[in-house]
Amino acid sequence: MSNFVKSIFLLSLFLAGLWSCQPKTRQPETLEPGTLEPGTTLVVPAFIPDSAYAFVKAQCDFGPRVPGTPSHAACAEYLENTLKRYTPHVQVQSFRSRAFDGIVLNGKNIIASFQPDKRARLMLCAHWDSRPFADHDPDPAKRNQPVMGANDGASGVGVLLEVARLLSTHEPGISVDIIFFDLEDYGPPHDDQTEGKNEHWGLGSQHWSRNPHEYNYRPRYVILLDMVGATDARFLLEGFSMHFAPDKVKKVWDIAHRMGYQEYFPNQRGGFINDDHYFINEIARIPAINIIHLDANSSNGSFFEYWHTTEDTMDKIDSRTLGVVGDVVIQTIFMEK
Ligand SMILES: [Zn+2]
Repeated sequence: MSNFVKSIFLLSLFLAGLWSCQPKTRQPETLEPGTLEPGTTLVVPAFIPDSAYAFVKAQCDFGPRVPGTPSHAACAEYLENTLKRYTPHVQVQSFRSRAFDGIVLNGKNIIASFQPDKRARLMLCAHWDSRPFADHDPDPAKRNQPVMGANDGASGVGVLLEVARLLSTHEPGISVDIIFFDLEDYGPPHDDQTEGKNEHWGLGSQHWSRNPHEYNYRPRYVILLDMVGATDARFLLEGFSMHFAPDKVKKVWDIAHRMGYQEYFPNQRGGFINDDHYFINEIARIPAINIIHLDANSSNGSFFEYWHTTEDTMDKIDSRTLGVVGDVVIQTIFMEK
């Protein structure tokens, strides 16, 4: 993903000041229709952080999943086969997209559905490709090397593979679709004039948003996970999520707070991030929110410290963070009725 527009980011910093004036522990008077009331007895399967960690590592063991490489092809097969262990409803959406540099890339969006016959549906997603060049590496000599993407890509997919495993044995009140988007991170390099152009990023989610896997597909909302594995991650209230679906953000953050995860999910505004959820909102017109690690104090000024560097590797992945995010996602799924 890339930063959207710096001026909007600065505006959001201003808004962050206003937001922080609100009491941090305020609870909602009423929950959205379709949500179980707090106190309702729920049987929610336990998210296993070490299992999610193993799913992240399994992807990194293929090497960087850069589109067009054997590692990318092998990982696609692994993701498809793994999902098929958990549900019979797996489809691969193959597509071609032209990248910023004119190259035509072959992409695969990998889609798993759980009890797709139910009326009410929830969609979860993450991107599975890794960035072809580490253009934000502090060492200029390394900026042409691929990014491993342990956090930027594999972490979100790892959490959702563990969710898929749990959904194979536990049935929530709604149906769930899990989509792994391809070609998210093939945007222009840092020094390219078009770096900030939205349409160069999220090629897989743009394709899916114009061609959903089912006719008239209307989930209640979408949760995107991106960079959800680093130690002490902070998931700020991302700008587009708050613009398009503030009620869904509130719903998920309230669940996180009730679970005691206020530190990870502070009521603090972050920047506007050009990520897959932007296209789902803008093109498919489905409310979509992004759980993404944002950090204005990092050396890149927006994201977790090793974003788009050669250091985005397994040693930065903390199973505790994967567990926090997994707990919140699985609780959110089972709170829907
Ligand atoms: Zn990225």
